[in-house]
Parts: sequence; structure tokens; C-alpha cells
Amino acid sequence: MREDSFHLIKYTSSGLYCEVADLWIDPKKPVKQAIITHAHMDHFTFGCEEYISTLETAIILKERIGKDINIRTYEYEKEFKVNGIKISFHPSGHILGSSQIKINMADEIWLITSDFKRQKDDTCKKYEIVKTDFLISESTFGLPIFNWDEPQNTALEIKKWIHTSHETTYFLFCYSLGKAQRLLNEISKLNFTNNIFTHSSIDKMNKCYKNFGVEIIETKKFENNKNIGDLKGSLILLPPALNRNSFLKRYKDFQTGFASGWMSIRALRKRSGYDKGFPISDHADWSGILKTIEESKAKNVFFHHGDSEVLIKYLKEKKSINVLEFEYKK
Ligand SMILES: [Zn+2]
Ligand SMILES: [Zn+2]
Repeated sequence: MREDSFHLIKYTSSGLYCEVADLWIDPKKPVKQAIITHAHMDHFTFGCEEYISTLETAIILKERIGKDINIRTYEYEKEFKVNGIKISFHPSGHILGSSQIKINMADEIWLITSDFKRQKDDTCKKYEIVKTDFLISESTFGLPIFNWDEPQNTALEIKKWIHTSHETTYFLFCYSLGKAQRLLNEISKLNFTNNIFTHSSIDKMNKCYKNFGVEIIETKKFENNKNIGDLKGSLILLPPALNRNSFLKRYKDFQTGFASGWMSIRALRKRSGYDKGFPISDHADWSGILKTIEESKAKNVFFHHGDSEVLIKYLKEKKSINVLEFEYKK
């Protein structure tokens, strides 16, 4: 391990930075060149001079924030250079277009997983195992209590839920990009006959996914001024920001549910205020993170995003993997 290359990627208050390429990964401030790993808004900042992403991510981003951004796209696996540094995108299995970033300089490889999962998801490309020397992994659900159930079981739970009563309207809250499409894809594999309505933000994303050939069950656009009677017995998908009492009050007989990995914790489920919690996540669970570290063959691992204390302790004591702290740079 050479001293200079050890610092190939730095962790700064504005995000991950590759100094030799003058390239930021999902920066939190406007910069000259930004790689965007996927189109979730906590990975995007307005005002960068140039963005680099996969084609899918670029199309989703433009759909979400407008066409007026300067974005260069590359296919998965295709190597390109920034300031002479070799870079490529590899599927991370998180949402449509999401990618891991492989950065290669002088035969030393760094891999940034960004948000990833190892579970089956027919709405995006499967996570690709990439061998690396240094791995920067997310650890959102890096505790042994997180152990995901099959997504099809979650879809079955949802089906069961909306069959409780014909008189009730069922509001299921979930993220507009990724989660909603994954649920609608899983639901499309069931014999599901109730009406499904979606918020316009979800509808827009459904269209993007369908254009890339992803199977999404037929839905209608949700309009809040609709006759309440028409929505009885229906499943309505809305973004979590709309879970406000004033918004739902007019639907006297209704139930609310939330689809999220956090709903696998009973205490959080109870405290959340939703009638039902459906545990399903687009992030890796405990064993998914461990498997990824092992398969990457990385000798050095960093964690980014989420609390990683338990994970670090486990890797150091049980696996003798070198977990490094980022050298923090302002
Ligand atoms: Zn994400
Ligand atoms: Zn994220």
C-alpha cells in the first residue's frame, strides 16, 4: 500500500472526494464535476457544473428536477477517464439506474457501493460483485437485528391488509422513487384485483420504469378531490410527506401503512403512528453487508452513511478485516 494512493478518496464535510480526478461523489455542495450514484434526492445537489451518471439515473433525475442540467452518461461496466483516472459504474441493486463507483489508479481499486442491496428486485439490475482493494460501503441497516423477509411476502401482507374491509380506504406510504415501483412490481405477480391509485410523483416514476421495460401493475392517478366513495377498498400509494391528518381526515374510514426497512423494529412500528408497518428495504441488511464485504475481497473497509459501530466491532473481532476511519478533511 503506497502512502499517496491511500488517500485516493477523501471524506469531507461536502461528501466523498477524489482529489486526483477532481471529482466528487454525490456531493452536498455545488462543485465542478459530480458523479451521481442514483436519483434519490439526498444524493443530489443543484448547481454543479457537470454531472456524470448512468443513463437511467439521468432520465429519472431530469424527470424529477427538470431537463436543464448538464449531465453526461455512461453505461454500466464501461470504463471512462476523468483526469486520467479510470472510472466505471456497476449495478448496486438499490433502484433503477443505481450504481457502485469503481475508481482505478495505478492498479489500486477503490469501490464505493453507495446505497445497495443484495435482495431480489425485478425493477433494477442485480448487484454486481466487484473485487476491490478498498471498499467504501454504506451501513444504513448495519445491525444483526436487520434480516429482510422475501419481498413477495410483504406484497402478500399488503394484499391481506386491503382485504380486511370493502368500506375502508387503504393509504400506503412509501418513497416515490424505487420503493413504490418495487411494491407495484411485486404486487403485479399476485392475483390483485382491487383498484390501485398512485400520487402524481409516483405515477411519473412508474412511467420512467415502464419505459425501461420494468413490469409495473396498472394504476390510476390519485386525486384528493375525488369522490371518497370511489376509493373504498382501494390501495392508494402516497409519498410519506403526505401523511398528515388534515389531508386524510375527509376519508372517515381509512387505514394507513408504511413500507420501510425501519418497520421491522416493533418499537418503531408502534411509535410511527401508522396502523400497519410493512418491512421492506432497498438497502442491504446485516448479512447482505457482510456478504458484500467478503465477496469484494477488500482488505480495507470504510463505512459511510449510518451507524457502523457494531459492524466495525464484529469485523475487527470475528473477521480480522481492517476497518479504517476516514481521514476527515474540511
Ligand atoms: Zn438511495
Ligand atoms: Zn441514500
